[in-house]
Amino acid sequence: MTSRDAALEVVRKLRDAGFEAFFAGGCVRDRLLGREPGDHDVATNAIPDQVQKLFRRTVAVGKQFGVIMVLVKDRQVEVATFRADAKYTDGRHPDSVTFSDLKSDVLRRDFTINGMMEDPVAGTVMDLVGGNADLQARLIRAIGDPDLRFDEDRLRMLRAVRFAAQLGFEIESSTLAAVRRRAAEVSSVSRERVREELEKILVSADPVRGLDLLRATGLLHPVLPAAATLPDDRWKRTVRVVEALTRRPFVLALAALLHDAGRPAAGTAARDLKLSNEERERVVWLVARYADPPRAASMRPSEWKPLLAHPGAPDLLELHRAIQTADGAPLDAYTLLTGYLARPDLDPPRLITGDDLLALGVPRGPRIGEILQTVREAQLNGEVANAEEARAMAARLLGGP
Ligand code: ATP
Ligand code: MG
Repeated sequence: MTSRDAALEVVRKLRDAGFEAFFAGGCVRDRLLGREPGDHDVATNAIPDQVQKLFRRTVAVGKQFGVIMVLVKDRQVEVATFRADAKYTDGRHPDSVTFSDLKSDVLRRDFTINGMMEDPVAGTVMDLVGGNADLQARLIRAIGDPDLRFDEDRLRMLRAVRFAAQLGFEIESSTLAAVRRRAAEVSSVSRERVREELEKILVSADPVRGLDLLRATGLLHPVLPAAATLPDDRWKRTVRVVEALTRRPFVLALAALLHDAGRPAAGTAARDLKLSNEERERVVWLVARYADPPRAASMRPSEWKPLLAHPGAPDLLELHRAIQTADGAPLDAYTLLTGYLARPDLDPPRLITGDDLLALGVPRGPRIGEILQTVREAQLNGEVANAEEARAMAARLLGGP
């Protein structure tokens, strides 16, 4: 069953019980744009208790805000009671909500293109805020006074940029002016939400538009200070690198965005944005290593083999390729190393272990690690071929200084 069919079933059932019910927000926008909606949200004048009574399988996901999840076959449909949001004191969550009518539910939404309702039974669109005209004009425009709307919820400023990047739209001028005035206030938005929006911008169809908007509005400072403080020429080059990526998983795109800021700044930014440890380590590794591939020709196998055996190697090579492309520099190291990626001898089983060394009489301590490392390098360089030769080398090293 499609998401739309599931939501249609919910609308029909609410209507049959005498309530008003519509598709609302993003799904209406996406259908008018000919994009596949991620999900279909239903808005209704039924209050949560009434919704829960009407449907057999429900989850009270956000009952205090009027949101009930209705399960239809294998689908989940969010059903939200028409509401007006009361004052926001934390700039993020409404302090309380009042259940209301369709009109105030439209007016509490963020942008005109997100403010339309669809009657899927009659096949009509209800557009009280000029959303369709803005879709045609490809504009992100706040509903109502943009200053007040961004004061209520600062996350909306990032959403404006995110929709511009996803849809390739412009931000309407008075909305844009309000973002510029209030950009610094985004520092009070939770880092998890900031990360979510930055991620959506980086993986969007037009990340360059998003990044340029972040920088031009001043939003980049609270979002990614390390990138915001780059001088203009280095910022422009950084954006060209992001643009040159042929695939943009979040971690790779973020590493591209931070590579010029350097490894400590990248670590701080990743920590700030609450990336998982694994994500953070990968970003930092990419930023620390991006300059290695150009040195490949002068590297010994004991250097390039571990680099290529690392799980981040395909991303590292892609980052390197993007940097070279942005700089108009040659791709021979990229071509060479990409060819090596599939080699079966990048990470061969070790020929000797710490236990072997202990058995040879080496006392516990740092010397063990040093010998293992030296033997490993010799193995990767083809100077030691089997366990016997490895033990002989270890014995030689032991006899030496
Ligand atoms: P996406 O494709 O990212 O899901 P969407 O428009 O569906 O886009 P959601 O975050 O799922 O975005 O929100 C659904 C709808 O709720 C929006 O279309 C908008 O009408 C409203 N909305 C969401 N977040 C806000 C907000 N911070 N302030 C006001 N209205 C909002
Ligand atoms: Mg949505």
